[in-house]
Amino acid sequence: MSKKLFVKNLSNKNPTKDLTNDDLKFKIPKITSKKNVIVKINNQVSFSRKNLPIIAGPNGVESKKLIFKVAKFLRKKGVKILRGHAYKPLTFPYRSKKYLETKDQGMDWLDEVKKYFGLLIVTEVTEIKYLERISLTADILQIGSRNMQNLELLKEVSKLKKPIILKRHFGASIRDLLGAAEHVLVEGNNKLIICERGVSIPHTHRDTSRFALDIQAIPALKEICNFPIISDPSHASFWAPWVEPLALASVAAGCDGLIIEMHPDPKNSAVDPLQPLNFKQFSQLQKKITKLSKLFNKKII
Ligand code: PEP
Ligand code: MN
Repeated sequence: MSKKLFVKNLSNKNPTKDLTNDDLKFKIPKITSKKNVIVKINNQVSFSRKNLPIIAGPNGVESKKLIFKVAKFLRKKGVKILRGHAYKPLTFPYRSKKYLETKDQGMDWLDEVKKYFGLLIVTEVTEIKYLERISLTADILQIGSRNMQNLELLKEVSKLKKPIILKRHFGASIRDLLGAAEHVLVEGNNKLIICERGVSIPHTHRDTSRFALDIQAIPALKEICNFPIISDPSHASFWAPWVEPLALASVAAGCDGLIIEMHPDPKNSAVDPLQPLNFKQFSQLQKKITKLSKLFNKKII
């Protein structure tokens, strides 16, 4: 590519929030060119177009008792990936008495539960200073929606070459999201999983819902890239009764994995108590996903 052409095509002559042909050619070359992507997690689970891993667990690692209870249940259900955050971004600075970020203590509990049950761990990295501790235990590092364009954080996380879940910011276009994803790939990390988790729209159909799951983003992203596209209906809807229909809709739209928030006693979840599924609801959802995924030749993991 000549220098002149490069400069010409980087100048934003027709500013748009959606991808142009020039963007596809020049701005996200890595994300668009990689074929048949398979993101292996410790050689135990793969994210790809053929699989449908389910990631489940509570919002936060509230206590050792909670995380062991959830892990025991997931093990029984054949789910291989446990989620739970020890470091948490919260929309407001005030925390209920029940809620404390358990930080390093929470990471130690995740470590224990991982060794005891042999589960893979997904947890969020909110700041570079926590990365060293988190990476000792986590098998997948989650970049939360609020940090999607925290490029310094993205860079440092990517350098570790561990699998990453990059969540779409609730106000970001696909163009912004793929730009952030390209930042991961330029660091030489191809172990990227992209997650749709709901966007801000004028009406979200309930006063308790803040976002709407952008189902259309799933085929839109799959049209452009071969990286696994997963869906998080829990953080999108904020409302447990909608998680099942939205999870099934995500499978029908072609997602390559799901994040489902669950808690043994949702109303006593330290944060977002309206959102997690209880064990019974999770089991019912898992059965339905298993049936539906057969239609799409996807293997539930
Ligand atoms: C989460 O996964 O717990 C979370 C906070 O997600 P998001 O960044 O999508 O809000
Ligand atoms: Mn959460």
